[in-house]
Amino acid sequence: MKELLDATATLAASYLEQAGTRPVARSASLAEMVEAIGAELPDEGVDPTTVIEDLARGVDPGLVVTNGGRFFGFVEGGVLPAALAADWLTSTWDQNPGFYALSPAAAAAEEICRRWLCDLFHLGSAWSAGFTTGAQLANFAGLAAARHHVLANAGWDLEQRGLFGAPPITVVVGQERHATVDRALRFLGIGRDQLAIVDVDDQGRMRADALPAIDGPTIVCTQAGNVNTGAIDPVGEIADRAHHAGAWVHVDGAFGLWAAASPELRHLTDGVERADSIATDGHKWLNVPYDCGVILCAHPEAHRAALRLSADYLVRNGERQGSDWTPESSRRARAFAVYAALRSLGRRGVAEMIERSCAQARRIAERLAGDFEVLNDVTLNQVLIRVGNDDDRTRRTAAAIQHGGETWLGTTVWQGRTALRISVSDHAIDDAGIDTLVRALTTAAEA
Ligand SMILES: *Cc1c(COP(=O)(O)O)cnc(C)c1O
Repeated sequence: MKELLDATATLAASYLEQAGTRPVARSASLAEMVEAIGAELPDEGVDPTTVIEDLARGVDPGLVVTNGGRFFGFVEGGVLPAALAADWLTSTWDQNPGFYALSPAAAAAEEICRRWLCDLFHLGSAWSAGFTTGAQLANFAGLAAARHHVLANAGWDLEQRGLFGAPPITVVVGQERHATVDRALRFLGIGRDQLAIVDVDDQGRMRADALPAIDGPTIVCTQAGNVNTGAIDPVGEIADRAHHAGAWVHVDGAFGLWAAASPELRHLTDGVERADSIATDGHKWLNVPYDCGVILCAHPEAHRAALRLSADYLVRNGERQGSDWTPESSRRARAFAVYAALRSLGRRGVAEMIERSCAQARRIAERLAGDFEVLNDVTLNQVLIRVGNDDDRTRRTAAAIQHGGETWLGTTVWQGRTALRISVSDHAIDDAGIDTLVRALTTAAEA
């Protein structure tokens, strides 16, 4: 075993050493990749060290280096050293945080992370937390708690009677909500006809003054961090109006919520502490490995009523049953990596990491402003640019960069126009990474 793990550690270290210089992405077809790692299931088993060395060699051309300081596509965090090491131990320990009896250790890590996250985001100390695969499932969990709560207030026992015949629920969303919100609602039996879609401003923020009149069971779903512009809805103002009418306020804060952890940026998230549920990601801006999201909820009883595995667990004497707070039963003990990330950074380190990404985004926008059109107000970690006011040139610039291998970014459509989307989410991005991005963009756009 020791030999296998040593060999694996050597492979991991050499990957990380090369992450800053190897091609960020290469074109590899699925058929080539499948062929490279062996298309047929062997009849006889293969020695583990050989399996691992062959695997690492075979998949190598198809690895996209999102954690080497030169990746600006989507909103992808890198990996902090302590979080990576804790993630290795998580697999080694093979803990299942679904039930306290299966891992008091994982329950303790979840409880500490719950407290630390509530502290970092200035939430009440009694908020509940569930550790999910990502913000998709965190949105699902928060909206499930919301659905339970607004129906209970209307006198409807959802867990007993189900959704058939229930009072209709209205979900108020912004035009610029993330696609995972619609998918979470779909899983919850709430369709497009139940949405009240609110106008947004030029940065994609829901307009508080455009909220519809609220009547009956209503969930208002706000956003902290638009995937294109980084803009954050005026959550406080929306929450005040929505609460006045008895609605539940959810925040999709996959990455934008992290601004709350910075004294310099906190004003952007003003009012999130007055929401009823907040979804965020660990694997984006906190820079822990995939998979990790978090649902935070101001109403633990609604959170647990919506998700708990069985009513038989109601008396628990202070234990934490992980399966009360996520839609899963058995799962990965994700909180060990969150714990390691938070402790290795400390409160000040988290704030500095978030502030650094935002300062880097502003610097990128300033340096590109001459040759490119910057489409958004760069208030967070996102920069949207366009080449020669031309959709086709903009797309070709992205394609050239994606093939070049030096760096990576993707395209989007913002207010009807094709744009390049730059996201600064990897803690490993430094001045050299920014130089590489600016140079690659300038060269590709000229060509
Ligand atoms: C990334 C993102 C999600 C989905 O998160 P996953 O981690 O991919 O599940 C939801 N909302 C917003 C605003 C996001 O940026």
